[in-house]
Amino acid sequence: MIKKLEPCPCGSNKTFGNCCQSIIANDSASSAEQLMRSRYTAFVLGDAKYLLQTWHPDTCPHNFQLGQSRWLRLTIHHADTNTVSFSAAFHSGNKGMLLEETSRFVCMDGHWRYLDGDCTVNPIKRNALCFCGSDIKYKNCCGKRSTSEA
Ligand SMILES: [Zn+2]
Ligand SMILES: [Zn+2]
Repeated sequence: MIKKLEPCPCGSNKTFGNCCQSIIANDSASSAEQLMRSRYTAFVLGDAKYLLQTWHPDTCPHNFQLGQSRWLRLTIHHADTNTVSFSAAFHSGNKGMLLEETSRFVCMDGHWRYLDGDCTVNPIKRNALCFCGSDIKYKNCCGKRSTSEA
């Protein structure tokens, strides 16, 4: 559970209460980027209901299951009216992975919906600068605690 006054997982620098909490509760994202952020937060929260609700009916999977991944950080690279490019770092077991995706969104009857996206998932390079923005190599930063080979 994330408390109202904690930083929002989507990386907006706002509190959860002033950011994704009410968007998720009210299905009220006002742009593709906001929907993307709130869906990321729903992944963090394990809120499958919201993820399905905000999925375009044409592309919504019939048997959607949240994986066991632990989502760490969302970085939005570019957003315009209908597309958002982002990367999201997560740990799957003890492996650091980076998902990079360009997602497409459409607005239907005043509600933004996720249509689809092109994505690649790769292991985080241990010598690369850490995704958290620390300017430290991943292996010495967020990769330290959670990988067995550290
Ligand atoms: Zn947020
Ligand atoms: Zn880090």
